[in-house]
Amino acid sequence: MSPEQFNGAVLAWYDLHGRKDLPWQQGITPYRVWVSEIMLQQTQVSTVLGYFDRFMEALPTVQALAEAPEDEVLHLWTGLGYYTRARNLHKAAKTVVEQHGGEFPRSVEQLAELPGIGRSTAGAIASLSMGLRAPILDGNVKRVLARYKAQHGHPGEPKIADQLWQLAEQLTPHQRVNNYTQAMMDLGATLCTRSKPSCLLCPVRDGCRAHLLGRETDFPESKPRKALPQKRTLMPLLANHEGAILLYRRPSAGLWGGLWSLPELDDLDGLEPLVSQHALRVGERHELGGLTHTFSHFQLAIEPWLIRVDQAGHVMAEGDWLWYNLASPPRLGLAAPVKKLLKRAAEALNAGEQP
Ligand code: SF4
Repeated sequence: MSPEQFNGAVLAWYDLHGRKDLPWQQGITPYRVWVSEIMLQQTQVSTVLGYFDRFMEALPTVQALAEAPEDEVLHLWTGLGYYTRARNLHKAAKTVVEQHGGEFPRSVEQLAELPGIGRSTAGAIASLSMGLRAPILDGNVKRVLARYKAQHGHPGEPKIADQLWQLAEQLTPHQRVNNYTQAMMDLGATLCTRSKPSCLLCPVRDGCRAHLLGRETDFPESKPRKALPQKRTLMPLLANHEGAILLYRRPSAGLWGGLWSLPELDDLDGLEPLVSQHALRVGERHELGGLTHTFSHFQLAIEPWLIRVDQAGHVMAEGDWLWYNLASPPRLGLAAPVKKLLKRAAEALNAGEQP
């Protein structure tokens, strides 16, 4: 589809199906469009409806908002969440009054300099309330365009975002830009939805590459997973003559807080202080095979060693230490990889592998 075919089809669809009765579409001013756009960020239309009317009744103009105490603004925002939006709204109103004589600037660049107004919101204010030819690329439109072009890469990457902005720019018409902007938002919100797009009803399906490929929901692509930092540790499983393993309870704050775990060493040289602390004599040892555990922010490579120990005296494990009997395990909270390692140790001991 050419850009003209694309925006022509979108506008024809808008005439038939677009939303035209939302409160901020009546008596359109930059102020009303701006407040609605900020409220609609991260919030559903149905939730915004009541808030918008109350806000406009209390603070009908940008001057009224600029002069209102912050408490009043936050009170009107209470329940909408993301309160930085309200604080920025207040700050931006003051800037409009103090630096622009109470009139919203008529350029996307200047609008985007106001607190809390990004390029897409600036484009929406400029096109919806001033009729300026300015593209938008909010979350909904990003999804439509990424699918339309079957754009590879995550739209959060600057290079991909640039390509989508270029596409948004090419497709934006020179006439009826206000209706087109609203239509694109509606299309994303009502047809080109995240998990079940209604392609059969979509006005641009003939040119939509993701639809032609039958891969609509593969776009936009998700953020590539970053390779997690790697850490390594050695975990000795000290097995006494009864086949019990020495565990200790981790401090309640931090990783595996309050769970029972195996001691951790940098290497086998660190064994000596540990065994002397528990009055143990080291016997045979045997590596159990490595294990990798993934946390949200790093990967831990564990090198487990099964080590036979003799108790030199009659020192019992106490405090945050205990001998975990593999044959009749006590009911304890165990760190997940430790549970796996205890199972392996039990198997190795049962199989008669002498550590
Ligand atoms: S055809 Fe489907 S995937 Fe493509 S823009 Fe329309 S609704 Fe979205």
